[in-house]
Amino acid sequence: MTEVAEAPDARRAQELKRIAHWINGASVAGESGRSGPVYNPAAGVQTGEVDFASVDEIDRAAQAAKDAFPTWRAVSLSRKTEIFFRVRALVDEHREDIAKILTAEHGKLLSDALGEVARGLEVIEFCCGIPELLKGGFTEQASTGIDVYSIRQPLGVSAGITPFNFPAMVPMWMWAPALACGNTFVLKPSEKDPSVSVYTAELLKEAGIPDGVFNVVHGDKVAVDAILGHPDIDAVSFVGSTPIARYVYETGTSHGKRVQALGGAKNHMIVLPDADIDMAADAAVSAGYGSAGERCMAVSMLVAVGDAGDELVGAIKERLPKVKVGDGMEPDSEMGPLVTREHRDKVASYIDKGREEGATVVTDGRESAPGGDGFFLGVTLLDDVKPEMDVYKDEIFGPVLGVTRVSTYDEAVRLVNQNPYGNGVAIFTRDGGVARQFQFDVNVGMVGINVPIPVPVAYYSFGGWKNSLFGDLHVYGPEGIQFYTRGKVVTSRWPDPATSKVDLGFPQTR
Ligand code: NAD
Repeated sequence: MTEVAEAPDARRAQELKRIAHWINGASVAGESGRSGPVYNPAAGVQTGEVDFASVDEIDRAAQAAKDAFPTWRAVSLSRKTEIFFRVRALVDEHREDIAKILTAEHGKLLSDALGEVARGLEVIEFCCGIPELLKGGFTEQASTGIDVYSIRQPLGVSAGITPFNFPAMVPMWMWAPALACGNTFVLKPSEKDPSVSVYTAELLKEAGIPDGVFNVVHGDKVAVDAILGHPDIDAVSFVGSTPIARYVYETGTSHGKRVQALGGAKNHMIVLPDADIDMAADAAVSAGYGSAGERCMAVSMLVAVGDAGDELVGAIKERLPKVKVGDGMEPDSEMGPLVTREHRDKVASYIDKGREEGATVVTDGRESAPGGDGFFLGVTLLDDVKPEMDVYKDEIFGPVLGVTRVSTYDEAVRLVNQNPYGNGVAIFTRDGGVARQFQFDVNVGMVGINVPIPVPVAYYSFGGWKNSLFGDLHVYGPEGIQFYTRGKVVTSRWPDPATSKVDLGFPQTR
């Protein structure tokens, strides 16, 4: 790179971008005096400073959402659909801008960021069908002259609290169904990559979403606690790590809110001896190291059954030197940096920890990390990992893939079922009968059969089991619509003097 090309970047890093809240249809500079740094992880420099909301600022956003609710709720379904088609068109038109903002703060590849936007867009598309999704039931003549019908109505103000790893898609999982169902929304995105959410707010305004219907407040625990205790917030959707998910669920529900809180994961990929080993190795590398392992559906533990182990480890080892680690904006990079220096160092510390615990370090990602200040780490493969090791138990959330070896299918399933997490799992086999038995046996919410990252399409719902989800309903799809609405059943009769009489008995239907 020439000096001329470098100069603007270096300047931008010094002139920090200020990232403000978005309340009632306008940018609002934070006044709490608290803020946090936002980095460009590939360069390892701070590029922005994000305002952290005070309790008063959360209250202002909740008030704006509460005030906007009666009008938004009353907007007809055909008008809401029209607006949602415009939201869809604008997000589609600006998908590259969204992806660039996202890559600059998160670090993932631009192509991966575009993939994230595409998957979020599918949820928006699903929500364009809101008139169909909100259809109720109707029973004519349930009793003589009496009809009964069910309707679903919005809850009021919903809040979303989201993680750093999918700064565009995960908020879309929440605000799209929430708004389509007639709720108003307060989003508290991750403080690590908050800009996409503000950009989205501008797009929603342009699409015709009225002021106050969608608000963004930034911050940390202070903001989250203010949301969880706010009397005007009716529901909270959370995605993040398990300890915070549990806390959000327990605190939110203790304040009478409806809460769905998705937590962390330790996703296993079982490889049976009859599997296509090349296909399994390609899948393991893609799912283990894609987005630098910072995906809640990343494969982090391979379970090699019987004699699959040696061949599988050999095939993966062969592929690893070809994984090109670099700036996510560079078209030939295949894996970007981690989100922060602290996170990179923590992930890297698991390599020594694994060795000390008795695992075999087949490939050490520290040796292949690009130089410079970026938060890079290369790909690491640990073999002979055992369930009692920390490298097995912990969600490392980085490009560290472990292999554990077992003798039988039953042992493999036992490992998965005993694990406290239950987000995603995959099995690689050519045996349809075994695959079918696996889907029956396994205690995990999302199952892949020769598919390593089984993220459900937008018209199903996303969610794990066990410590990967607190609450009853999964996100987006039909369960998302259920989460953001509540049912009402109406029993109706029209005046008919011939059947009117006083009857103090309990209503009979015959
Ligand atoms: P995180 O739990 O640190 O943060 C998530 C959100 O909670 C952020 O908005 C953050 O500001 C807030 N938060 C952080 N600490 C808090 C505290 N003490 N009190 C209240 N709020 C707090 O998660 P992260 O590091 O941003 O994201 C990575 C995690 O998210 C991983 O564990 C990953 O598995 C998980 N994740 C899960 C899913 C899923 O669908 N299950 C999807 C994406 C990410």
